[in-house]
Amino acid sequence: MIEIIKTSSISGNGESSWKFLGHKSGLFVTKAMAKLIDDKIIPKESNSIATLKNNLVPLKIGIFIWRVLRRRIAVKVELDRRGIDLDTLLCPICDNVVESVDHAIYSCKSAQDIWIGIFKWWDLSLPSGYTLEDLIKCSNSFGMEPFKKKVWQAVIWSTCYMIWKNRNLKVFKNDADSSPKIVSDIQVKSFEWIKNRSRKSLITWQQWLISPASTNILCVNMDPG
Ligand SMILES: [Zn+2]
Repeated sequence: MIEIIKTSSISGNGESSWKFLGHKSGLFVTKAMAKLIDDKIIPKESNSIATLKNNLVPLKIGIFIWRVLRRRIAVKVELDRRGIDLDTLLCPICDNVVESVDHAIYSCKSAQDIWIGIFKWWDLSLPSGYTLEDLIKCSNSFGMEPFKKKVWQAVIWSTCYMIWKNRNLKVFKNDADSSPKIVSDIQVKSFEWIKNRSRKSLITWQQWLISPASTNILCVNMDPG
């Protein structure tokens, strides 16, 4: 900016101000900034990772998922690969296996307990041989109709995010929640996120908690259009 200003001559008596070009008003608007990040930083590649979207979760979750699929989260193996000197490459949660992205989010014993809890809550069982990528992309939709599948994917993405949050709690604050507590946090957060972003009416909190999969109330369209 200084370089640009140096070569400019400023004249006139009018008031000067900075303009945010991301919005037609010239004022900084968080939503417009979020859209800019979405459009500019997340590349619009034709492959399925880049085009993977789910607007039932906050943008930060979508960006996190994008980074997970590209192995761009700060697990020990990735830090080591980038030349950062670490005392150990072992997982900070189980202290037993090298911490890769797949391990941290999916295959660590504590992550598996959480995934099993989430699948059980939805009356599903985790398919054998299912990978983290299968999970994130919802490779198996278990016969769900499209909107329910989207809700289910939002739950999966929220779960990835909450598992990582708990891992960081352990690393940076030497604290960690139990798997049942994390499952219960995921139920609360995902309901709040989905409900706030859905144009369709959602089931009640009680129904959500007991059996989100067995009802089709998720599909009632409340959009006046
Ligand atoms: Zn582990």
